[in-house]
Amino acid sequence: MVRSLCFSFGVVLSMIGLAAQRPLPKAILIDGHNDYPWALREHDPARDLDTLDISKPQPSIMTDIARLKAGGVGGQFWSVYVPVELQGQSAVTATLEQIDIVHRMMRKYPGTFELALTAEDVERIHARGKIASMIGMEGGHSIDNSLANLRMFFRLGARYMTLTHTANTPWADSANGPVEHHGLTPFGEAVVKEMNWLGMLVDLSHVSPETMAAAIRVSEAPVIFSHSDARALNDHIRNVPDDILKMLPENGGVVMVTFVPGFVSAKMNAWNSLSKDEQARQPMPKVTVREVADHIDHIKTIAGIDHIGIGSDFDGITQQIPDLNDVSKYPVLETELARRGYKDADLRKIMGENVLRAWRQAEQVSKRLQAERGPSTMLGPKQAATTPAAGPIEITIERTACFGVCPDYKVSIKGDGTVTYEGHQFVRVTGTRTWRIDPAAVAALASEMQQAGYFDLQDEYVARVTDNPTTWTSLTMSGRTKRIKDYVAGPPKLKEIESKIDQVSGVKQYVSPDRKDDDALWSAAADGDARAITALLAAGADAKQVRGEDGVSVVMQAAASGDAESVRMLIDAGGDPALRDRGGRNAADRARDGIEMVRVHPERNLVQATGRPRQYELILKLLTEE
Ligand SMILES: [Zn+2]
Repeated sequence: MVRSLCFSFGVVLSMIGLAAQRPLPKAILIDGHNDYPWALREHDPARDLDTLDISKPQPSIMTDIARLKAGGVGGQFWSVYVPVELQGQSAVTATLEQIDIVHRMMRKYPGTFELALTAEDVERIHARGKIASMIGMEGGHSIDNSLANLRMFFRLGARYMTLTHTANTPWADSANGPVEHHGLTPFGEAVVKEMNWLGMLVDLSHVSPETMAAAIRVSEAPVIFSHSDARALNDHIRNVPDDILKMLPENGGVVMVTFVPGFVSAKMNAWNSLSKDEQARQPMPKVTVREVADHIDHIKTIAGIDHIGIGSDFDGITQQIPDLNDVSKYPVLETELARRGYKDADLRKIMGENVLRAWRQAEQVSKRLQAERGPSTMLGPKQAATTPAAGPIEITIERTACFGVCPDYKVSIKGDGTVTYEGHQFVRVTGTRTWRIDPAAVAALASEMQQAGYFDLQDEYVARVTDNPTTWTSLTMSGRTKRIKDYVAGPPKLKEIESKIDQVSGVKQYVSPDRKDDDALWSAAADGDARAITALLAAGADAKQVRGEDGVSVVMQAAASGDAESVRMLIDAGGDPALRDRGGRNAADRARDGIEMVRVHPERNLVQATGRPRQYELILKLLTEE
């Protein structure tokens, strides 16, 4: 064991040369992000540590024990990353498996590693010459919308969680977008607060700037960026904008500068966005340690020396910086910083003391919060909402005439927003009609049906009183189709779904008006409230309605109100401008009454709720020209 270690050291020293001596050999060096656990999983699905035994040189990856020691690593956050392609329970299981790797590493290499659960552990383990090992979760999808999962991951040793990876969670936006929540939802805020309660660091690498700002606003403890650079030097979505950097002094947070070439160098970022053909024609830019130091300089200028750390992302990257390409190379960066005039105290902060200080603060906050309250029992959004529907969406509702009176029609809604209606009998419009609605509304309806347990409902409900069938609904999404036959006495949940389909499709106006909408339209016409009229007509309220013993039409009501727009809309929606009441008077007569009233009592031409003075002249013109 000792011999093989000596051999490894020899190999490493010849690889890195004698120049790579740390300027401050005793200062603790803590790295925020190393993906060895994922590298192991990629090499061996069984995740046998012997497959990539890091007590021996492992030149195919960036990490092994000899190089960790040569690099002077004193504390390492091991990432238990799982890709966002894993969602729900699969993400939880895979995260547990990755955490298990770290625990097995501790067991396999007890002389080298020890699990650190507190900032104090890190110092104690480091003082004994071992590498303090911390667990960092990379992506909120790992907790599957459950604060209980979050707490159990903390118990297993996780000490930071990146709020998202490259996809939004149902509660936080990722840097990779799209903008969905504008930062954090209320549940997202609860996740941050629960992390504060636990003493788990909130990691904002990978999240959108809005999520960064929201988390910093909500968090009572310092946040970290476990592996990100400064956006001012390279406009990459994974980097931290200056306005966020400016929030760090107050929050106490730390940006752990990463060695990912595409995040460090704007030239590399541009090259990465070229097509394969263009890349073949242009040489790949060479990124250097000096550019990494430039990010440190910048963060120092904007946020200050207390807010900088190191988060290499070794073994999580496909490109590398030649002089900073494995865990033995940290001294190269330290030497560059010393050359730039960073004092010993500054170097100690950057290399590890800052993140330890942030962690200690988070522990203090946790202690205080746990004295104040218990764990949160808030429920997260259901997992179904996170998995976007794959494949075509189609939703249909088919109603048959019940007892010879209910409207008999079929509506089908496609994922692209196309609605097809077939009216049979007892409906306002018979025959086929097609229209379009917002495709986002279709997707939302489909996932709402899925969340309501539509796929788990019984195929057919048997009525207790009568076997007269009333409705069929069906949902196709993510390659599944379910069709349910509902009788009069079906479950309330299904009834809700049925009326939701009617509502979202906009079928109501073809089927039958809602009595309540008609009443509301009647009042809106009397008030001359054109905006309310627009909404009610869209909902299917009847513009042709005539009421009372006098036989007054809704158009007459609007004409008397003095709002021309209301009159015009009702006529467009089928209201008859020429209709006469029992007394033989029509809408135009009411406009003439209004003109006379305003002539005699000019003060009555007050500006109405509609924001306009009464417009009887205009209405008369409208009615007589129709
Ligand atoms: Zn990452």
